[in-house]
Amino acid sequence: MERETLLTLLLILFGGLALQPLAALRSWPGHENVTRAGESRAWLRLWLPVIPTLVIGAWLCGWALQAPDPVRLPLGRTVIALACMPFALVALRALLRAIWVLLREPTDLPVCTVGLLRPRIIFSPFLARNLETRLLRAAWEHELAHARHHDPLRIWLAQIATDLQWPWPPAGRRFAAWLETLEWARDDEARSRGVAGTDLASALVAVARHGASVARNGASRWEATSDAPLVGAGTQSLEARISRLLLPPSNEVGMPPPDRHGGITTAMVLAGIALAACALGAMDGSAVLSPFLAWTWAV
Ligand SMILES: [Zn+2]
Repeated sequence: MERETLLTLLLILFGGLALQPLAALRSWPGHENVTRAGESRAWLRLWLPVIPTLVIGAWLCGWALQAPDPVRLPLGRTVIALACMPFALVALRALLRAIWVLLREPTDLPVCTVGLLRPRIIFSPFLARNLETRLLRAAWEHELAHARHHDPLRIWLAQIATDLQWPWPPAGRRFAAWLETLEWARDDEARSRGVAGTDLASALVAVARHGASVARNGASRWEATSDAPLVGAGTQSLEARISRLLLPPSNEVGMPPPDRHGGITTAMVLAGIALAACALGAMDGSAVLSPFLAWTWAV
């Protein structure tokens, strides 16, 4: 079998074997009642089950760097392909949904931030004409916070991570919990820039009354989106959010913006782990994989 073909099959097989049991764990999700810290923790919880798969993938890539090509397998191509099939179907579903989000029609949400690489804010002309200036500013600041953090891209990536953990419900709950804390965090960021909580709450009610808001909870199972809306969750979540906005600002409101280098640091740590795993795979990949697959090398 060609080395690259075998690498792809092993990535799917071992990646799926590592990810699926972690996806089913119920201890991962958490529902935070804090704002920025809660959003960061919910984001981390969403990705933690995926990290071992990324490390295994890097290790396999390291193995492939020094493996001969082609590779002869006593087990045969069919056996490995069949073992990969369930995980391959999950990965294919995730890929198709991710592509669908990129190719779908423009959003019909009245107020939202769209665009994976260059976020831009969409505002319904009807609302722009009829909302009071202070409510317009409140909604605008909320969406500006989404744009500053590139939330459409983050939502798209989080949806892919969640889809790779299909069909386990805890993964969906982690995604929903993160989306909720994301909205709270952006509300707080808007308030930290001088927006009154009552104005933002009024803007939420106005947009909800506009009737064109699309509740994520009501979306079909296939439907996915990367849009970061002003009102995007179910009625219960909206009520809780408005109640929260009517309370005095939390201690975090008014604090300086969160450290943006935190994400870069995390990415660098993950890249370092991946590089180490890749080097380890190049050194001892054959020794570990050979007994597992009981293969022999051939040129
Ligand atoms: Zn929002």
